[in-house]
Amino acid sequence: MADPDAMWEDNNLDATQPGQPLFWTDTSCILCSICSAIAPETFGISSLEDHCVVHSQPSDAQGLARCREAEDNCPVEAIGITPPSR
Ligand code: SF4
Repeated sequence: MADPDAMWEDNNLDATQPGQPLFWTDTSCILCSICSAIAPETFGISSLEDHCVVHSQPSDAQGLARCREAEDNCPVEAIGITPPSR
């Protein structure tokens, strides 16, 4: 489970819709790029080039579904969601 206390500070936590769950990554990310392959509109490499972050929160239902798929497929459970909704 991703650790909110270890969240990368360069995640973009700005909501695009009211009340939406917010995705983020933590420092256990191993930069495998699975998340950015599944949801490239949300996840991408940090400017620090050693981890992935959320560049923008999902803006529609399809994007939200891709983010949940990315969360499910992260091999080290480095993707968190706030608030937990399931
Ligand atoms: S899937 Fe997980 S480990 Fe892989 S780049 Fe994304 S956050 Fe990092």
